[in-house]
Amino acid sequence: MTTEPETKRAKTSDDVDAMETDDKENVAMEVETKGKGGNLSGAVVRRKMRDYYKRHYPAEMLFEWLAHGNDKKHDKVDKSYPNRREFCFVLNKDDGGEIFARYQCFADAKEFHKAVNNQQPARIEFGMVCNRKPKERMSVDLKPVERELVFDIDMTDYDDVRTCCSKADICGKCWPLMTVALKILDAGLRKDFGFKHLLWVYSGRRGVHCWVSDERARKLTDETRSAVAEYFAAVKGQGRSRSVAKMSPMHPSLKRAYTDVLEKYWVETYLPNQEILTDQAKLDQVLELINDEGIREDLREEFSSSRNNSKSVERWQVIVDTVKKALQKKQGRNYKLEGNLEQIIFWHIYPRVDIEVSKHMNHLLKGPFCVHPKTGRVCVPIDPAVAEYFDPESVPTVVDLVDRNQTLDDAKETFNKTFWKAAEAENMQRLTAKTRAAKEANQSGLDF
Ligand SMILES: [Zn+2]
Repeated sequence: MTTEPETKRAKTSDDVDAMETDDKENVAMEVETKGKGGNLSGAVVRRKMRDYYKRHYPAEMLFEWLAHGNDKKHDKVDKSYPNRREFCFVLNKDDGGEIFARYQCFADAKEFHKAVNNQQPARIEFGMVCNRKPKERMSVDLKPVERELVFDIDMTDYDDVRTCCSKADICGKCWPLMTVALKILDAGLRKDFGFKHLLWVYSGRRGVHCWVSDERARKLTDETRSAVAEYFAAVKGQGRSRSVAKMSPMHPSLKRAYTDVLEKYWVETYLPNQEILTDQAKLDQVLELINDEGIREDLREEFSSSRNNSKSVERWQVIVDTVKKALQKKQGRNYKLEGNLEQIIFWHIYPRVDIEVSKHMNHLLKGPFCVHPKTGRVCVPIDPAVAEYFDPESVPTVVDLVDRNQTLDDAKETFNKTFWKAAEAENMQRLTAKTRAAKEANQSGLDF
């Protein structure tokens, strides 16, 4: 989505009526026309943000989640827990810069929402839960105690495998790369680590975030967080120095990623969308990855022929047939082409996780339901079960919500249905179990 030069037009009278008084003098400068990809201008987003956070931002719902049951009226809750969470408000400065107001904390949802309305942040980031209230940091030794395990996947890390867009831009042709990443991580976190409470969120522009909220995930140390993140880093490094994990034999989790997601997406979506095998630079990149010089040269010659105008899917079939034939000749044993085709696919479309974000408890991450300043879109939750139908361009913007009577009902429903309902039920079960344990201990005369 390119941010187009601002198209200036006077607004219609309906639009003017919907605006606040102090906005009316800016009518001539109002820029509501959407650019390529439906992005709003930064000026419009900033102006509508205030209203958005006041009327639409689900502060109560988010605060309740972040309290993980400890905001309940129950004698087994940890009452101090909600107030020990760090919030960071990112405030816009008049000169275009940003101020990071860190170490804020709130006793309850009401206090949180009130602070949001008063300070009018452009972005709200959620951090760690500390041993003490973060705002006491000057007088106490503040330490991280727990934090959701988070993942951040950003489309800019896929620039060398995209032919449609680059940098912060995205489109329907490259967005499926995010779907692939989401599906593979979701399956890995659930099946290999047994996590159940995963909240997937659109980052508002060019990526996705995941918040793993199981108690076990929240209590991971920085070391174990690193280990989990590394587990998903089967593809490492950038550009030509990118390395791919061993493919022969393949680790069971990679095998699952390959057969359940990658193999299908590669042929049905990625190749037709990106046409990398008809793009000279990208084709060279693929041929470079073939571990046999002879085959590499033969294919290069075949594809460079002016008579060869086949598309990427057909060209891939040629590569597959050629490599398989060569493998057969060597009976597939200890040969450098073994796993080579899979390696090429992993190199291109296996998730590229920004592991630095996952490694540390005290890493801040933009919370769900924030507004992206560049697109005006709300960071809405994504249902992982139907992630392939998620369309970033249909995500509501601040203008849709503030001026056009759209609501966040669907987004909140996704939050509840795909994530919160089950997590909340487990929070309650945990409290009930604590009560039961205390009662039993009491009855047996044990002193706790
Ligand atoms: Zn694109």
